[in-house]
Amino acid sequence: MSENYDVVVIGGGPAGYPAAIRAAQLGFKTACIDAWLNKDNTPAFGGTCLNAGCIPSKALLESSELFHRAQHEFEVHGIKAGKIALDLAAMQKRKDGICKQLTSGVKTLFTANKVTGLQGWGKLLGKGQVEFKSHDGKTTQTLTAKHIVIATGSEPINLKIAPLDGKNIVDSWGALDFSEVPKRLGIIGAGVIGVELGSVWQRLGSQVVILEALPTFLPMVDQQIAKDALRQFTKQGLDIRLGAKVLTGKASKSGVAVEYEAEGQKKTEEFDKLIVAVGRRPFTQNLGADAAGVKLDERGFVKIDKNYKTSAAGIYAVGDVTGGAMLAHKAIEEGVALAEQLAGQKTEVNYNAVPSIIYTTPEIAWVGKSEEQVKAEGIEYKTGAAPFAANGRAKALEQQVGSIKMIAHAKTGRILGIHMTGPYVSELAAEAVLAMEYGATTEDIALTMHSHPTLSESFHEAALAVEGHAIHIVNKPKK
Ligand code: FAD
Ligand code: NAD
Repeated sequence: MSENYDVVVIGGGPAGYPAAIRAAQLGFKTACIDAWLNKDNTPAFGGTCLNAGCIPSKALLESSELFHRAQHEFEVHGIKAGKIALDLAAMQKRKDGICKQLTSGVKTLFTANKVTGLQGWGKLLGKGQVEFKSHDGKTTQTLTAKHIVIATGSEPINLKIAPLDGKNIVDSWGALDFSEVPKRLGIIGAGVIGVELGSVWQRLGSQVVILEALPTFLPMVDQQIAKDALRQFTKQGLDIRLGAKVLTGKASKSGVAVEYEAEGQKKTEEFDKLIVAVGRRPFTQNLGADAAGVKLDERGFVKIDKNYKTSAAGIYAVGDVTGGAMLAHKAIEEGVALAEQLAGQKTEVNYNAVPSIIYTTPEIAWVGKSEEQVKAEGIEYKTGAAPFAANGRAKALEQQVGSIKMIAHAKTGRILGIHMTGPYVSELAAEAVLAMEYGATTEDIALTMHSHPTLSESFHEAALAVEGHAIHIVNKPKK
């Protein structure tokens, strides 16, 4: 059986499902094939993000933060709550419920927008054809389409030296589903996943050790901000060991034995559980890329041009499978931009204004260049910073840590980067992105009224500080 479409999207994650919805809104007859199966074998649209990434991790970060605050901060507010106890099963149930609501929401959106959603595997057959095979193998269908979109995403990188056993050595997906709080938890990699999931389990009671091969903590973040965040994490009890290269991780009597090298010496640690969080790689298994003439680069990412065209005519690719920042919002924007380009519109993604957020406490958020980057590029620049210690709302929240740092061109004042750590800086990132998208100067921000008392006043204050006339903090003397 064969059916004709205008657009067939392979992959129903943050790159694929918005591409399919937007294509259908623009009048294309569209199908989206998605292979995701949850651990109980139920199919669900939404990809990594909605099933095993952004959403479940944020649900657990929120619950664990509340648990921690109830135990350690309520008293400061004058609240006596008695003994606080953890019901991990209920916490996990809430998380799973949120994922389910959102993944079934994608299904509803497909129906509302007249996208044909197919759950199973999609394979490129060449000549504008895609094979769809249902999970039980009982239905096979050939779809023909003028435009085919690859949005097959990414998967965790595994380490041969610490192979997953699905029990004690797990990847990020496994680490979202622990049914007990591990007493001692080891994590390989102090990247975004390492610090987010490390925070979850540390707040719930684990002793967490994060082993990071690099000597620098979060090298992509402005180092003044990264060092401040590291100080806060260490204060909370996260044991982050930099320059610690893991050599082996294997099952032992008490759980997992890890051997690593640091400061020129071999060391060992025993953990109950070990999370491997050393990055993600493109997922193109079962795709038939080769046969369809879709070229991959040396790391396995689908090669594309600036309009998401692959090496095969009529086949495009968006999201994690194409490389660059592996972020859901970047994937969404690419999916939508591609659909609009297919309809003849000139939509483009601004890759200079992609925000990054780490949802720890304090949160870390940034957009644009760091001070280290502008220095290395020889750009003349000026900076200004505003600490949350001087912000009334941050004090009311009992979260007066961190700061906002703005980096601007020395002559034009145009903002080159904004890096922040502190309460809800994930939300303040929206203003930072808008400022960069509009090519704002620090003066534009300085002349914009910000409500009092809000965290956004620190954003305003950082812009004023660049010009040396902050009001609520002492200005640094001009050099
Ligand atoms: P995916 O979400 O991986 O979706 C690809 C889909 O394609 C999957 O459903 C897959 O099953 C399907 N597929 C693959 N091959 C085929 C095939 N041949 N046929 C049919 N279907 C196929 N990003 C953020 O921006 N914010 C966050 O807070 C955040 N938190 C994260 C937390 C964790 C623990 C992890 C692991 C990731 C997180 N990310 C976050 C990253 C984010 O999840 C990814 O960037 C995003 O999901 C990429 O979207 P995608 O559509 O390209 O790929
Ligand atoms: P990452 O690239 O952020 O961090 C991996 C870390 O592991 C690196 O610092 C690396 O130096 C270290 N490492 C690698 N091999 C090692 C070894 N043998 N021993 C010790 N350390 C080692 O990758 P991740 O944390 O796995 O996250 C994967 C992707 O998922 C990221 O690209 C990120 O964009 C995305 N993600 C985003 C969010 C968010 O936006 N909040 C959250 C989670 C994940």
